Amino acid sequence: MTKRELSEKCVDFINDDKLDSLAAKTAEDPARVRDAIAKSMAKEPLDTTETAALLAVRSEDLLEEIFEAARKLKRDVYGNRIVIFAPLYIGNFCVNDCKYCAFRRSLRETVRKSLDDNEIRQQVEALEDAGHKRLILVYGEHPDYTPEYIAHTVREVYSVRKGHGEIRRVNINAAPMDREGYKIVKDAGIGTYQIFMETYNHEAYKKFHPTNTHKGDYLYRLDGLTRAYEAGCDDVGIGALFGLYDWRFEVLAMVEHSRFLMDRFGCGPHTVSFPRIRPAHGVQLDERYMVSDDDFKKLVAILRLSIPYTGMILTARETPEIRREVMEFGVSQIDAGTRIELAGYTKDTPQKLNEEQFSIGDTRSMDEILRELLQNGYIPSFCTSCYRQGRTGEQFMEFAIPGFIERFCTPNALLTLEEYLLDYASDETRAIGEKLIQRELERYEHPNRDKLIENLDKTKTDNQRDLYF
Ligand code: SAM
Ligand code: SF4
Repeated sequence: MTKRELSEKCVDFINDDKLDSLAAKTAEDPARVRDAIAKSMAKEPLDTTETAALLAVRSEDLLEEIFEAARKLKRDVYGNRIVIFAPLYIGNFCVNDCKYCAFRRSLRETVRKSLDDNEIRQQVEALEDAGHKRLILVYGEHPDYTPEYIAHTVREVYSVRKGHGEIRRVNINAAPMDREGYKIVKDAGIGTYQIFMETYNHEAYKKFHPTNTHKGDYLYRLDGLTRAYEAGCDDVGIGALFGLYDWRFEVLAMVEHSRFLMDRFGCGPHTVSFPRIRPAHGVQLDERYMVSDDDFKKLVAILRLSIPYTGMILTARETPEIRREVMEFGVSQIDAGTRIELAGYTKDTPQKLNEEQFSIGDTRSMDEILRELLQNGYIPSFCTSCYRQGRTGEQFMEFAIPGFIERFCTPNALLTLEEYLLDYASDETRAIGEKLIQRELERYEHPNRDKLIENLDKTKTDNQRDLYF
């Protein structure tokens, strides 16, 4: 089937008029806000009308109730684990011309590169040396980046072993594919397939993605993750790029997208991403829709409450201060030690904008970020157990199955943290981390406790690795 025929079959579940009018509501209704909060606390996702009630809140007190509910949901349901990953840019050739991106084809001065197998190996070794176990591979859209090529690069990444280092989960952020393409990358053992819709508003989408480009086909992109599911990739990540259109609209649209996938496949997205636009080489954007820090906090808390069973990814686009602040509203994954220029993990030069897609806000090393997380009582986790045990839909299970976190997530987080501390951490980070593990063990009362202590011991004294529940 041609791309055009495919996109004609897509279901367009975004109704701009409906979402615009919901996003424009400003009349606060405390009773409806509290009903919506109660529903999320009862572990039920919200619909767009309920989400709109939260988005309409302007008064400080009611806003604080929303923040407190998001904090509570994070604390009581997910606990204090934060999963750590890193992005690895494989290639930045691109046939599209997205106005916000330094990789767009019309920018002649962008330095272009695709990593060869040897360069992939070097980058992965550097990432393993920092302690990474989970990567997301990122690609422009180009005829070179076929599903076969992407599958090949995934296999290359998995094959790199250095000391105790290995990559145990590879996620993908690349252009949407057809069903055959998804099957090919799935066979290479990918985790999540991420596609950001950028903006869900049809008119705004047109403005940023010229219609004579592949990405200019709104419906083909909107349907991208539906095709992924149909091809057997049931682990997908949605996202919007905040700053292109009204942020309230995008939040509502992501709620709609989650519900669409849930209704159709019985399982919503595994993760949601909410990047804010960053300064980028050759990019000048209208400030009108830029999201302020205050609005960003609301956005994160409201997303948490609206789609409570979905993992939330907060990237190094944000500064350390903002990351610190919004983490408590329900973030479940962050990247650390991030470099986004091509082959950047083996360079120690500062960011060079004409080699990167955009500038990042958090340039701290992996060890610094982990130390801060530990100091603030979070458990950095490198767990990849569910994916390797075939427990797909883990984010949903974490949320919905009583005792799931105690049985699997907490012990696996502690075991992978112990590996990090032994193999990669600075002395200072190791000392703080060991104390945290002791504290966590003291309050871990699950029947798995003895096994966990035994496995921690095997990791420390017998030098064993990759023991998981
Ligand atoms: N080329 C593929 C695509 O567009 O789907 C892969 C993803 S692209 C390399 C990764 C994501 O970066 C895009 O989906 C977009 O949301 C985001 N991005 C692009 N320009 C950005 C900017 N200036 N600031 C922040 N994020 C940006
Ligand atoms: Fe290409 Fe993706 Fe950048 Fe658009 S966002 S220009 S598709 S790399």
